[in-house]
Amino acid sequence: MADWKTRSFWLEHKDYRPGPQLDGDRHADIVIVGGGYTGLWSAILLKEAEPSLDIVVLEQKVVGFGASGRNGGFAMTMVARNIHDLIRKVGHKQARNTHLAMVDSILAIEKFAADEGIEADIWHSGNLTVSNNPEQDIRIRQDVEAAQRLGLDDFTFLDRDEVQARVHSDKLRMGHFEPHALILDPAALARGLGEAARRRGVAVFELTPVDEIKTVNQQRVEARTPFGTVHADRAIVATNAYSHNIPELRKFIFTIYAYITLTEPLTEEQWGRIGWSDRCGVEDKRVLVHFHRPTADGRILWGGRDAPFMPGGPNPKHDRNPYYFARLEETFRWTFPQLDDVKIDRGWAGPVCGTVDSIASAGWLAGERILYALGYAGHGVGPSQLMGRTVRDLMLYGESELTELPFVSKKAVPLPPGNALRRLMLDQSQRILLDMDDHPEKAGHPLGKLLLKLLQ
Ligand SMILES: Cc1cc2nc3c(=O)[nH]c(=O)nc-3n(C[C@H](O)[C@H](O)[C@H](O)COP(=O)(O)OP(=O)(O)OC[C@H]3O[C@@H](n4cnc5c(N)ncnc54)[C@H](O)[C@@H]3O)c2cc1C
Repeated sequence: MADWKTRSFWLEHKDYRPGPQLDGDRHADIVIVGGGYTGLWSAILLKEAEPSLDIVVLEQKVVGFGASGRNGGFAMTMVARNIHDLIRKVGHKQARNTHLAMVDSILAIEKFAADEGIEADIWHSGNLTVSNNPEQDIRIRQDVEAAQRLGLDDFTFLDRDEVQARVHSDKLRMGHFEPHALILDPAALARGLGEAARRRGVAVFELTPVDEIKTVNQQRVEARTPFGTVHADRAIVATNAYSHNIPELRKFIFTIYAYITLTEPLTEEQWGRIGWSDRCGVEDKRVLVHFHRPTADGRILWGGRDAPFMPGGPNPKHDRNPYYFARLEETFRWTFPQLDDVKIDRGWAGPVCGTVDSIASAGWLAGERILYALGYAGHGVGPSQLMGRTVRDLMLYGESELTELPFVSKKAVPLPPGNALRRLMLDQSQRILLDMDDHPEKAGHPLGKLLLKLLQ
């Protein structure tokens, strides 16, 4: 089996034949490096706005090879850690505008897929966020109050009985429900975007790694690959966690890995035991969250919990790790003891591009020749569509209402430069937070309390 197919259930379970490789040098108006959601939405939206543009996308493996073909498939409105956190970081007006722009993006993804005939098993399920302990109860209430302060009516508080009416588990205490969220097949969406880009005249080359990207005399850009060079007027770097080696970006991004396990398909009787009849997406309120959802073929996807920091950036050796799969199985069994006869079928992982404030970032490098767009910190399925619109506006108009939103207007928070300091800061804080998530009775840990204060 091709190596890229083995990276996730989503990349494997439907047939896919990669598109052409770059074959020789060529010119373009815009060259985009990276065939994930960010690169593909940017290509589509730029081409729709300005059909005469000659746009080339270069993808090292296949479209959706990165996080876009491996994720949980939750398209959510979330930017930053949650709506309460977003207000703290960008203020009321910006938080409200960002949330409303994200609702537009969720609806736009659903409509685009329907119009283009993209078969990505999209289910407008809404998102249920649940609490497992008193500390998490506080976070649920904070979100609902934050949404009310913003005058948003799309966060509904659910008490224990109302949560249990959606999913039966003794461990779920309360929650909130947001209707504007989808669950979908992430690789099918990425492939559908790749096809939609091609139909609009974008040249999408696969199995074409970019070895170097540079500006020439501040006049143009060159993207070099083993199969030829693309000479372009401007470039977009849409390589998310794989941007780790670009020094200007490494100043404020880091790589963590997200792990997922998948059960075998459940019988109707087994589904009945957990009463998850509306099959909505579910996240909990740990700091390092769990996320779970049904798949179209009747399995439960169970992901999250550990999010180990990887100082060396993305590396296929992290794509499978029995230790993290076992820890996920442990919490699956804890949450649903009534499914003790359901087996875990497989697991996988992928690189997530983190930023200190959990807000994605877009901006110019090298004068106004190379634009970067990345850093969704584990929640990029929905936001990458907003990012595509933002990239379009930056490229074509310089500024717009969207470029006033935090992806562009909020300055990324820098990280310590050296590996040792980074490791100390990121590794240690992850450890403390994970320990507090796993052992809520340790909520009194002084450093943990400080970290939580910064994050909640
Ligand atoms: C396990 C996991 C679960 C997740 N779950 C969710 C979820 O449920 N909901 C949610 O909103 N978000 C989730 N995320 C995050 C989400 O998947 C990402 O935020 C999103 O896919 C980012 O898209 P992207 O296009 O920016 O990056 P990517 O999809 O990573 O795309 C970058 C692309 O660049 C290519 N590339 C890199 N270097 C080069 C090069 N030199 N030359 C050419 N091409 C190159 C890569 O091959 C890759 O295809 C999850 C992530 C993971 C890993």
